Amino acid sequence: MKEKILQNCGKCGLCLNACPVYKQLKEESASPRAKLQLIKAYDQHTLASSPFLKEIISKCMMCGSCSAACPSGIDHYSKFMEMRRKMVEAHGETPAIKSLIYLLAREYRTRFGVGIARAGQKIMPKVLAEKFKLGNIPLKNFPELNAVPFRKAHDEIIVPKGKPVGRVIYFTGCATNYLYDDTGSATIGILRHMGYEVIIPKDQTCCSIPLLFHGAKEKAMGNIRTNIKALEKLDADAILVDCSTCGEALKNEYPRLFESHDKNLAAAQKIAPQVTDILSFISLHFDLLQFDPKITEKVSLTYHAPCHTKNTLQSRGIAEKLLQTLPTVTYKQTPDFDQCCGGGGTFFYEYPEVSKKMVDKKIESAKALQVTHWLTDCPVCRMNLAGNTEKSDGLTVLHPVALIYAALKQI
Ligand code: SF4
Ligand code: SF4
Repeated sequence: MKEKILQNCGKCGLCLNACPVYKQLKEESASPRAKLQLIKAYDQHTLASSPFLKEIISKCMMCGSCSAACPSGIDHYSKFMEMRRKMVEAHGETPAIKSLIYLLAREYRTRFGVGIARAGQKIMPKVLAEKFKLGNIPLKNFPELNAVPFRKAHDEIIVPKGKPVGRVIYFTGCATNYLYDDTGSATIGILRHMGYEVIIPKDQTCCSIPLLFHGAKEKAMGNIRTNIKALEKLDADAILVDCSTCGEALKNEYPRLFESHDKNLAAAQKIAPQVTDILSFISLHFDLLQFDPKITEKVSLTYHAPCHTKNTLQSRGIAEKLLQTLPTVTYKQTPDFDQCCGGGGTFFYEYPEVSKKMVDKKIESAKALQVTHWLTDCPVCRMNLAGNTEKSDGLTVLHPVALIYAALKQI
């Protein structure tokens, strides 16, 4: 069956123009088409495993653009994930990625690691922060980690303002919990304003997509089972995510991970259709928003569409429409608003030169619009865009919920 799907590739090349890595490198070996053929050859035992093969398979952001463009309906995503697992089993991982996997595989380790990193951020001399980079991002441009993890700083049940209209579960992901608590506060603020009770399960943990993307399926399964257990027991109108990659994990990946006899399969299948990204949810219930009529000054902004929002979460176009509907906003669109920024999970760290070229191109396009804000609903895109802009560029990079919340009437 697996082979049959790979044989469906008619080598039309449509995935090449969709692939941000190929577009940058212009090498056939970097293309999704070539990766599929290499996987086929490996599966047929005509190509041996090697560190070089691992490198080719890894040079990919798992952005899903190839699958979205493929007329043969090939699911590159699952094939690449499976092949990555085989390559890591055969050739191991770099120490940095191994450490990341180790930290993310247990919540207490993540908390500990973030605590150390935050202490390091506080004491790091300015000269070092200016000199060193993590991947393509200068340390001085890294966002300050949350002083208190978002889930620790908030109650598990948050009551709505005004007349209750329903109840939602908020899956915060690691980024809001440890890095961007402004996104979390705005999300809660909007939902309460709409009249929703918000449940933030305390026992949720990393969605584990970074582990799955690095072939560490076995290490990811502990987190995944924990999340399924935390989410399946709750009754709500929706399970909301503020990160499209977490959404991709809960909606698409979790149901694929379990054998038919595993009780987690039914639970994952029950959870999946309830998962919605926060911007789609706001769009759907837009009539519940009351904007502050006293705000007359408009914010000029543009939007960067994350790959997982448009390719795997089926939310293409929703953020753009929503932002144009806001009364407090002047929305402008760059010609490359839906092109990948090169963040790609850890791609910005593993392939900094390629990533840098991609993000710099986007920054030039955004600057040309002369807007003050640049919005995106993926924390890695946000980190990559903000991390590569300078103060003099005059662009504040935020999640769209921050501006939506700021425009609401206080009730
Ligand atoms: S778009 Fe699909 S069918 Fe065409 S080359 Fe790429 S994988 Fe093959
Ligand atoms: S997932 Fe994205 S980066 Fe990877 S091969 Fe497909 S289009 Fe290229």
